[in-house]
Amino acid sequence: MDLEEIKKFLIKEKEETEKFLKEIDEEIEKLKTSDEFEASDISEQFEEKQEFHIKKDILLEKLKNIDKALKKIEEGSYGICSICKKEIPIERLEINPLTETCVKCSQKE
Ligand SMILES: [Zn+2]
Repeated sequence: MDLEEIKKFLIKEKEETEKFLKEIDEEIEKLKTSDEFEASDISEQFEEKQEFHIKKDILLEKLKNIDKALKKIEEGSYGICSICKKEIPIERLEINPLTETCVKCSQKE
């Protein structure tokens, strides 16, 4: 994999993440608008809603990291460890394109 392929992968990931986000928003909206339900369903609905919000937070965080990585590719600073400023081996980026640190630094953290 080279940088161009990683970029393509990230763009695809971004599209998918945005699609998931939209779906979750729709689910949350559905829960909001369902006004008729049994009293026993309320806690269940609440839990379901909480779950969607947790998922949403995870996706938003991911989206933020994808954008950050894409911006770095544009700027030419992608694949540089944010701690020691050394190049992160492409093999590591292939496994985790959103990583910002090299193996050494991530072990120290
Ligand atoms: Zn490092």
